[in-house]
Parts: sequence; C-alpha cells; structure tokens
Amino acid sequence: MRLSQYLLPVLKENPKEAEITSHRLMLRAGMVRQVSSGIYSWLPLGLKVLRKIERIVREEMELAGAVELLMPTMQPAELWKESGRGDYGKETLRAVDRHGRELIYGPTNEEVITDIFRKNVKSYKNLPLNLFHTQWKFRDEIRPRFGVMRGREFLMKDAYSFDLDEAAAKASYVRMFRAYLRIFKRLGVRAIPFSADTGLIGGNLSHEFQILAKTGESAIYYDRALEDAIDGGEGDVDRLRKFYAMADEKHDPANCNVPADQLVSARGIEVGHIFYLGTKYSDAMGAKIKTAEGKDIAAHMGCYGIGVSRLVGAVIEASHDEKGIIWPENVAPFAVGLVNIKAGDAECRSACETIYATLRQKGVDVLYDDRDESAGTKLASMELIGLPAVIAIGPRGLKDGTAEVTFRDTGTKETMKLHTVANLF
Ligand code: ATP
Ligand code: MG
Repeated sequence: MRLSQYLLPVLKENPKEAEITSHRLMLRAGMVRQVSSGIYSWLPLGLKVLRKIERIVREEMELAGAVELLMPTMQPAELWKESGRGDYGKETLRAVDRHGRELIYGPTNEEVITDIFRKNVKSYKNLPLNLFHTQWKFRDEIRPRFGVMRGREFLMKDAYSFDLDEAAAKASYVRMFRAYLRIFKRLGVRAIPFSADTGLIGGNLSHEFQILAKTGESAIYYDRALEDAIDGGEGDVDRLRKFYAMADEKHDPANCNVPADQLVSARGIEVGHIFYLGTKYSDAMGAKIKTAEGKDIAAHMGCYGIGVSRLVGAVIEASHDEKGIIWPENVAPFAVGLVNIKAGDAECRSACETIYATLRQKGVDVLYDDRDESAGTKLASMELIGLPAVIAIGPRGLKDGTAEVTFRDTGTKETMKLHTVANLF
C-alpha cells in the first residue's frame, strides 16, 4: 500500500479526550474515530488489526471444533421474554419497527442461538455442537470510556456449546478454555484465567481471562508461577486451575497461601469470559433433544465470549513505548514499512519502487511511505503506528547500495545490501 493513496490521519498531539494509552495511541495512529459516545468508525489501519484478531480467533475456534454461523444484530424482544432472564435493563438498546414490534440490538446471543438450536437440532446424534459468530453487539454502557475498551457498540466473538449432559458440557468448556489460551498466545498477550461470577448470563461455572494493564478495571491477584505455566503453553486446565488467581472481592488475603513475594497484585482488563450454563436457556425455551433411549432432555449449554474490538486496545495496553505502538507480529496491520528518506530524489525513489515491487510480489504486506514529507515525520509515523520493521532508503546508504532496517520491538538497526532486504520478509 502506498501511503499517498491511503487514509492514515496520524495526530502529532495527544487528544485531550483520551485518558488511557491505548485510546490515545489508537487516535494518534489514525486507527479509529469516534462517531458518537462509545461508537467508533474503524479507519483502514484499525480495521486491519481488528480483522487479524478476528481471524486468529476464528482459526482457533475452528481448530477446537466450533462451527461458524452469523446471527443478526437485531433480535425480536419476544425471545428475551421467553428465556425469562429479564434483559440488560438500561443497557438494552430498543427499537420499534413499523408494525409496532419491539426489537433489541443484541447485547449477547443466548436467546437467538437457543432458538436456532430448538428449531433445527433434535437428536443426540448431532451433539456435541458448538456454534460461533463474530458480530457487533450493543450495550448502552452507563460510562463508555477508554475508547474501544468500553464501547457501546463493540465486536464480540461468541460461541455456544450444546451437549447431552453435564460431563460432556464440561468437556466442551475445557476445550474452549484451551482454545482461549492458544488465542491469547497467538495474539502476543498473556491472559490470566480467573474463576468468575456468572452474573446476568447465568450458570455456575465461569472464567474470565484478564490481561494486565495499569488502567484495568479489576484488581487481580495471582500466583506468579501461573505466568510461567501459561507462557510455557500449559494446556492442562485442571492443573492451571489449581494456581491461586482471584479478582476483586474474591481475593481474600486470609485464604491466600501464596507467599507475598510471589503474589502478583495488579490491574486487569477482561478480554474473554466463558460460562457453563447448564440447562437454564434450554429449559426456559424448550430446547429439547432425543437421547439414544428416546427420552427428551434439555441440552446442556455453554457460552464463550471474546472482546475482539476490546482486544485491539488491550494488545496496545500490553505492548507500547513512549514512541507508540509495538504490534506483536501476528496482529500488525502491515508486516513492514518502507520509507523514502529523501522525497524528490530520483534514485531513492527508484530503489524504493524496486523493493516495494519485490515485497508485493512475495505477498508481503508493506506500507510504503512515498509522500513528500520530511524523513523525521515519516519515521516518527512508522514508530507511532508500530509496524514490526521499517526499511529506510536514503542517499547516503544508496551510495554503498544499502538500506537500513529497524526493528520496532528491540529498536535494533541493521544495514543491509539492497538486494538482500526483501529476503528478510
Ligand atoms: P465487563 O465486565 O467488562 O462489562 P462483561 O462481563 O459485561 O464485561 P461479557 O458479557 O462476558 O462481558 O462479554 C464478553 C466479552 O465482551 C468481554 O470479556 C469483553 O472482552 C467484551 N466486552 C463486554 N462489554 C464490552 C464493551 N462495553 N466494550 C467492549 N468490549 C466489551
Ligand atoms: Mg464479564
């Protein structure tokens, strides 16, 4: 992509409305713009990251056996009356259609998925079944803040499992738990699982996955050894659950046997939440299936959410420095930046064009700053938007046929022969 043909409205100054780093950086890097309180447009750079996160989540869901579908954003209010959970109260955004029927902009999808299930799945032979989608949700949060971290309209991946009995449902839960660990690892963030309350959603087994951040909304306490287990790719959920990890008022110093120097006490942002629901929704909505013995029983359900749009901010909270964002490779909007240090210099331009063409031919997603701007401005923008590597080509290096490659995470610079640069990517 040529920057001269792109939309990347970077800001030099810190926007006043942004209270936390990720919000500030997302605005400065031209990733999002607020349309209305808690409602954002995703500009091209932000959308690329959002899509990358969505794709990683999708791949891991599918690897874990879940099947993608797509439910609408608008739901009939009657379904919520049927499930009897009440609704999201003041967080619910309601609309009335021309026939006077009440609609809800979905804050979550248990009702709609249970309706699909009861109408289309009748036999034990179809179980286990896990269905998921990635769809916009709306919750009229009392205090939308921190940019996309607590929006009113936000993108969530939600999956729903259906099983014949509690044991099978718990196996589905563990499969999702493991998939979540893999997702966060691929996103380059460390998310700690905490046993959690089930709140409005219901059920009796639940875990929240939290990423550490100074501005996080929960106070979290856990055994530092849990970090190593997670970083080491520990997939034994039962073993992980033995480590001490408690959030907010669940943490009780009297019941915490972790030595003080090993207890991490920090702030966390919830990026995922999983629930075993039991038969709460299937009972209320008559989602019955026939067992092998011909008995009709209510399906055992689980639901599994990930805040896809919140994760864009959460990854930035976990990975930045004073110059800007440092994208983990898997979610970086472009793999590499290319900067012409001397705009207007024919030789520099021609060397850039050659490398740009070579990278594109290789299928490398490159952002080429071909604008007529100063070297300082261009390099600062690249640092701000946090691409993993930047190739800079200027007249001095060109004399020896070299370019300079800077790696964003370590800040290391390498001078390389022009014809070898593309091999790096
Ligand atoms: P929170 O406690 O942060 O309000 P929640 O418990 O209401 O979240 P869930 O219903 O479990 O959230 O939703 C699943 C995921 O959706 C959450 O883990 C979070 O990552 C994301 N999410 C929830 N509310 C918002 C929001 N207002 N803006 C952005 N993401 C959100
Ligand atoms: Mg929650």
